[in-house]
Amino acid sequence: MNAMGNETERAELGRATWKFLHTMMARYPEKPSKEERKSLHDFMMLFSTLYPCGECANHFNKLITTYPPQTSSRLSASQWLCAMHNKVNERLKKPIFDCNNIESKYPCGCANTENDSSISA
Ligand code: FAD
Repeated sequence: MNAMGNETERAELGRATWKFLHTMMARYPEKPSKEERKSLHDFMMLFSTLYPCGECANHFNKLITTYPPQTSSRLSASQWLCAMHNKVNERLKKPIFDCNNIESKYPCGCANTENDSSISA
């Protein structure tokens, strides 16, 4: 069995992970290349099999198999993740989050360049 036993730790891991994922989407390119689109798609699918809470991973993998990652732009990716997080919220009986202007809710403290998701020296 791969499920985590401690609820506090599971919640902490969840909060940190959602923050990372939403921030990643808020910095995803406005106009991604074909490679960047494939990277995001593959990243999310792999993430959903490797997330350390086994029960969560199992549900999330099923969810994003039904609603595949939207990778065509920053807006579509960030709205897609917000909707997926809301699906998880719904299942856990948590409040539904307002997805309007979601990108501005997840600043990363990084330089504000166009090609901001690429690696630079
Ligand atoms: P969280 O849901 O962690 O959200 C953190 C903050 O993000 C909120 O306070 C709010 O400011 C903001 N937020 C809320 N909703 C959205 C949204 N839709 N878009 C953007 N921002 C939002 N826990 C389980 O018990 N069972 C599971 O099956 C499970 N599956 C999970 C799957 C994944 C992929 C992840 C990352 C976590 C999962 N968790 C699961 C953990 C769970 O989702 C919460 O992270 C945890 O319960 C803590 O909840 P929270 O109320 O602090 O807010």
